[in-house]
Amino acid sequence: MKYVRFEKNNSVKYGKLEGDVIRELDGNFLDAATKERDQTYPLSNVELLSPVEPRQIVAIGLNYVLHAKEQGKAIPEEPMMFMVSPTAVISDGESIKLPNLEHRIDHEAELAIVIGKTAKDLTRENALEYVFGYTCANDVSDRDLQKKDGQFTRAKSFTTYKPVGPVVETDIDPNHAGIKLTVNGEVRQDSNTNDLIHDIENLLVKVTEVMTLEPGDLIMTGTPSGVGPMKPGDEVVIEIDGIGKLSNPVESV
Ligand code: MG
Repeated sequence: MKYVRFEKNNSVKYGKLEGDVIRELDGNFLDAATKERDQTYPLSNVELLSPVEPRQIVAIGLNYVLHAKEQGKAIPEEPMMFMVSPTAVISDGESIKLPNLEHRIDHEAELAIVIGKTAKDLTRENALEYVFGYTCANDVSDRDLQKKDGQFTRAKSFTTYKPVGPVVETDIDPNHAGIKLTVNGEVRQDSNTNDLIHDIENLLVKVTEVMTLEPGDLIMTGTPSGVGPMKPGDEVVIEIDGIGKLSNPVESV
């Protein structure tokens, strides 16, 4: 099942995507009591918003072997986690705006886990019961600031640096999903989540050992090899099998 958040007639609505048609819901799809309405809209007639409004975004660094190698880093024994600001989130189609054009700003295609229920101290056995679904994310990263600061908050939290969407898909196998990123049609990243060092269940266990996750929160699971710079005028497209395409133009501020 694919779920969306969208704007129509100046109001924010939630829906279930059925082919090219959105069936409106009477509330947020994350709420178990939400029901379907009779109202439908052609997908082409609405403006899609980021499918969730996370309160927290936990990101995982160096979670693919080849990416750790290309960054010249050792493979972390435990998931390397950090937080990025939820205010950086934008939707499919919105522009990634680069304020520091002299810096190297990289794309990072990532599968994002969307939390469905309040989650703390999960086990491998119950972890997936707390997941609502999965979406595409771009962990846009200012490499100059990342090196200068020695940590990631500033480098990865600029407004517009976290494209998310376009849908939340509930029915994929998150540990076996092809993930690809193109810039202006040229393939830069092409991998599969079966190459994750720490799989989806392990990430949920390790993150919730530490913190409580709430519905709509995101875990960004790390990026495969092939990260590279973006510049104004580029069109960046992330495609994850079973979810769809997240497309964002790049421009200067
Ligand atoms: Mg990343």
